[in-house]
Amino acid sequence: MNLIQHFVNGKSYKGNSNLKSKVFNPATGIQESEVILGTKDDLSKTVEVAKKAFEEWSLKPPLQRARVMFKFKELIEKNSDKISKLIVSEHGKVYEDAKGSLTRGLEVVEFACGIPQILKGDFTENVGSEVDSWSIRQPLGVCAGITPFNFPAMVPMWMFPVAIACGNSFILKPSEKDPSCSFILAELLSEAGLPDGVFNVVNGDKEVVDAILNNKDIQAVSFVGSTPIAKYIYENAAKNEKRVQALGGAKNHCVVMPDCDLDQAVNGLMGAAYGSAGERCMAQSVAVAVGEIGDRLVEKLSKKVEALKVGPGMDKNSEMGPLITNEHLEKVRGYVDLGEKEGAKLIVDGRNLKLQGYENGFFMGGCLFDNVTKDMRIYKEEIFGPVLSVVRAKDFKEASDLVNNHEYGNGVSIFTRDGDAARTFSSKIKVGMVGINIPIPVPMAFHSFGGWKRSLFGDQHMHGPEGVRFYTKLKTVTSRWPSGIRSNPEFTMPTMK
Ligand code: NAD
Repeated sequence: MNLIQHFVNGKSYKGNSNLKSKVFNPATGIQESEVILGTKDDLSKTVEVAKKAFEEWSLKPPLQRARVMFKFKELIEKNSDKISKLIVSEHGKVYEDAKGSLTRGLEVVEFACGIPQILKGDFTENVGSEVDSWSIRQPLGVCAGITPFNFPAMVPMWMFPVAIACGNSFILKPSEKDPSCSFILAELLSEAGLPDGVFNVVNGDKEVVDAILNNKDIQAVSFVGSTPIAKYIYENAAKNEKRVQALGGAKNHCVVMPDCDLDQAVNGLMGAAYGSAGERCMAQSVAVAVGEIGDRLVEKLSKKVEALKVGPGMDKNSEMGPLITNEHLEKVRGYVDLGEKEGAKLIVDGRNLKLQGYENGFFMGGCLFDNVTKDMRIYKEEIFGPVLSVVRAKDFKEASDLVNNHEYGNGVSIFTRDGDAARTFSSKIKVGMVGINIPIPVPMAFHSFGGWKRSLFGDQHMHGPEGVRFYTKLKTVTSRWPSGIRSNPEFTMPTMK
């Protein structure tokens, strides 16, 4: 049995815990590894290591930090096949999708390569007579990241490249369901020349998360995961005087207008609803059919959902892989049962799919519901599986109101040929990431990623310019070099003279 350890101070570390968690290959249903679940003591030892490493790393010129990132970028490119296969074997998504997600993480590394330019400060000559002032951004210290199972490489890479390039040290607590990628990323960072202790991985569950939240030497916590845990992280990190950004769950709508290119909308929806088996925070799980387009939309979708090729992630023909665990599979099937009970019309039922040779894998087929209404739990709650709900709306306003009144606000799309509708939609909609004829509007690394409402707790989105602000604090220096006359004490508020 493969044993997944922590990575601390530049090497693997077993810690003192006897607790382990099972890691499965979701396509076969077989346990292939076990991961050590760290303890509070493992975490505090790692914080000491990261604190020490910060002292020197934070003093390195940004150009030297950037050079490590350039080398890391090369190493990821060289190892992309190995990392992508690892994602497939522990998460289950199809190989090309795994590779694509790694590339989206790599883009953050590429952004971090520009850190000398990004960290340049602002300077004003003569804020007063012969008084100059400048503002700089300095690193925080030890930062921590807690990540979900659905993007085992990309989501950690939303965080640590920017944190490290800004001069911080970092402790990552990856998902215990697919933790191996984090270890490989740590090894590659070391190979790229990152000093020991700047990047560390501590595996675990609630015990390590709580130890992060309670450790007084951790300055900032980045979290991505489900909304209840995001709220818990936000409240407890803030209570302990840390910076926090906590990204939560989602229920993303796709508004299909009657004038849209229907084939484009249907193809967009297929990828966005069923890609990665719906286990994406930007998955579209609600299609809002506006006006008379509903029947045609459902007819076209149903044919495609029935033809969806479900199979193991390494099979080139597979369009959709298995779910992450058997428990999660049962949960998603349970939502389909619930939808029927709630009175939605189940058009395509993928609950009982069995694949020859993969009978124990965590597979289900794509499911499609029509006539879903806003009072149903399958509409209100995040299912996080291959289940698409079609909701009918009489007009643009009713469709927009549905989106705006939903508790989540991560991503949304509109398919239309009408510029006026598209502009009004992007301007008025209460969602953080908006697509116009784009099904999954994930911002590039030089913008930033984040939702609104209960999809993000905190003030700053992740990576890009917002990431730099999150991982640095602002300092403003005001300076005068008087010569000759010594000034007298001044008891009034200084103003410009
Ligand atoms: P999760 O909330 O169960 O777990 C996320 C992390 O929190 C893991 O590292 C886990 O070990 C830890 N955790 C779990 N329970 C905990 C507890 N009780 N106390 C402390 N820590 C705990 O999420 P998941 O199932 O791994 O991932 C799926 C969720 O993540 C979905 O809701 C999805 O929408 C969300 N997600 C959001 C984004 C985004 O950008 N908004 C991106 C990816 C995933």
